[in-house]
Parts: sequence; C-alpha cells; structure tokens
Amino acid sequence: MNQAKSSVEFKTALPNQWLGLLGGGQLGRMFCMAAQSLGYKVLVLDPASNSPAGSVADGQLLADYLDDAALAELAERCVGVTTEFENVPALALDTLANRIPVSPSAFSVGVAQHRLEEKSYVSGCGVPVAPHAPVRSTADISEALLPLLPGILKTARLGYDGKGQVRVSTLDDLRKAFADLNEVECVLEKRLTLLREVSVIVARDHKGECITFPVAENHHRKGILATTIVPARIEDVMAAQARASAISIAGALDYVGVLCVEFFVVEGMGLVVNEIAPRPHNSGHYTIDACVTSQFEQQARILAGLPLGDTRQHSPSVMVNLLGELWFDEQGNEREPDWSAVLALPQVKLHLYGKEQARVGRKMGHITIVAPALEQALAVADQVRSILGIGDDD
Ligand code: ADP
Ligand code: MG
Repeated sequence: MNQAKSSVEFKTALPNQWLGLLGGGQLGRMFCMAAQSLGYKVLVLDPASNSPAGSVADGQLLADYLDDAALAELAERCVGVTTEFENVPALALDTLANRIPVSPSAFSVGVAQHRLEEKSYVSGCGVPVAPHAPVRSTADISEALLPLLPGILKTARLGYDGKGQVRVSTLDDLRKAFADLNEVECVLEKRLTLLREVSVIVARDHKGECITFPVAENHHRKGILATTIVPARIEDVMAAQARASAISIAGALDYVGVLCVEFFVVEGMGLVVNEIAPRPHNSGHYTIDACVTSQFEQQARILAGLPLGDTRQHSPSVMVNLLGELWFDEQGNEREPDWSAVLALPQVKLHLYGKEQARVGRKMGHITIVAPALEQALAVADQVRSILGIGDDD
C-alpha cells in the first residue's frame, strides 16, 4: 500500500450537495446529523436496512461495501466520501479515491486496521507503544517472548471492544490462546500497569491544518468503554504532550479526517499509545454537548473542504455509555429504561441511536452530563448510574 493521497482535489462543497458515508452505525448517524445541520445531504452505503445512520440519512444504498454499482453511484452523486466504520474494506476506499475525495485515505485506514503496522507507525513518530512482538506461527512462541509475560495476545486485525484478545501468563497459556484465536496473525503485548487510560481526538484537513480536542479520561467495563471524563484528571504537561503526540501521528500519516489516539498512562513510562481509530470515537461523543464544534462536525467540515471549527470545551463533562443490558430486568425481561427520571436532571443530554433490538454489550446510546464544574458533572453521573442501574467501572 502506498501513501499516495486521493488523486482528486478537495473542493468546498455547497449546501445541498451530497456527502457519502460508508457504514450505517451510530458514528455515522451522528455524522449525518452534523452534516445536515451544515446544510448537506448524506448518502449512506450499508448492507443493512434500518441502520442507525441509514434511518436519518437523506438516502441509502443497500449494498455490500465492495459492490461496484453502489460504489459507482456513490462516486457519481457525492462530492466526497468518509467512513464511520474501522473495518471498511480498504479496497472500497481505494476504488472511490480514483473518482472523488476520500477521507480518511485507504492508506491511513489500512495502518489503523493492523495492530503491528499501527505500532511501527506510532513508534516511528517517536511516540512510545507497549513492548510487543508478532506471533504469526507456533514457531514464534519461544523463550524469547518471556520478557513480554504476563501479556495480552491480540489478533492483528478485527479486534474491538476487547474482542480478539486473551490474557496470558505463561508460554503454555500463549500456545493455547494462539490456537483459540485460530492461529491468525497476532501481536503479544506486555501487560502494563495502567494508572489511567486517556484519548485525544484530532482533526486534520486536506491542507494539513490540524487541531485537537481536550484530553478525555476513559473507564471501561468488561473491555467496553463505560465512562469518559473530560478534562482528563492528568497533569497539564502530560495533557499537552498527548495532544502533541496525536498531532505528530496524524501528520506522519498525512491523515485527512478525524482520528482518535488512545493512550495508556503507565507508571515509570508516562504516555504510551495503545491504538488509533481512523474515525470519530466513542470517547469523543462528549464534544457534541461540551465543545464549540463536535468531532462529527469536524468530519463533515473536512470532507466539505470547510475550515476546521473551534474545539474549545465550554463545559466540563462526563459521558456515560448506555449498553443493551439496561433494556433487561433481572429476570431477563425487556423493559425501557426510565428516561423521564434521568432527564429530570437538567444537566443530562440523552442520545439514543434508534436501534430496534437491545443486546447485552450493544451500544444503544449515551448520556452526556454537562455542568459548570467537573465535580458536579461527576455527582450527576452517579445519580444517572443509580437511576439506570449501571454498575461500577472495572
Ligand atoms: P480494543 O480494540 O478492543 O479497544 P484494546 O487494545 O484497546 O482493544 O484493549 C482493550 C482494553 O484492554 C484497553 O482499553 C485496556 O484497558 C486493556 N489493555 C489492552 N492492552 C493492554 C496492555 N498492554 N496492558 C494493560 N492493559 C491493556
Ligand atoms: Mg481500544
């Protein structure tokens, strides 16, 4: 894969022109809403009907991401195409890039889709990553890997929300985990002691202008993001360093679009990059209610060839994810969470993604709490969790 940019120039899109979107999930839904409020129309390509983005878009092509006719129609009708879905086939982006501007590029998406390439890119920017080694065959599992134990074996591709990874303590564990992962290409990472997990959303346009949002502090439950607190409770110097690292990674990729860089804060090592996501990110949902410009508006502005917006955070915020388990009572019967009770708290902003079927672990929506002070937002978040019956983070 080469780093060649889209051969087609970005031009400023006029209101009522169409922006294309690959993927129909909630990130796409929030992109549609932001693009529409700037006056654009959005055409979604997704194989599923009733998708969260498809149901608010101005039009939808119900087809596979690699369907030639659908890609041709997208290129014909749209002035540019973006993606909301990390595992979109790079070939679809490459095909489109011959005809219209594509953001982010197939190259950037390809790097982020592969944990080993991602790590070598990030360390190439002088930003530390966790000590790691590739595991591509059983022959790679030897005593040379002992310094990485205890560790986490992760599939090089297609992992998300903690899926495709196994914690291992011994070489025997590692052999078993590799077999359980069907011997696909993996990376073994040393298990680090995390003081915090933080992330930075960075937006970079086709002229190379680059801007970051305030650093977010992330808490997970069972491998899935549960809570994001912004500003992150880390030293200012470290926050500035995280934002600078995110800018240098975006610059090295010649990235055009919205990118999330996830970091660990590690005792004795400071900031270590965990992974990058070539799209808006769950940890950036707070920007809708707490910042002048949201991450989704930046994505639309970049695609439309408009200037980047101000990322200033006007209110401290806590974002609480709403997962499918909230739609079931203790007996496993379906129920609707008590939205009136949470919305009686005036600092609460509710976002539901319009998904018809709740499932355990499925992201159904999120709540952002905005308040004049972070302590107040944290206290309201506790009230929200207790009303909805959300347990503690890991
Ligand atoms: P996903 O693609 O599922 O988000 P991640 O690589 O981000 O996968 O891992 C999910 C979570 O597992 C991280 O947010 C972190 O809490 C934990 N984790 C991952 N890698 C390490 C590591 N090397 N050391 C300690 N914890 C880790
Ligand atoms: Mg992650």
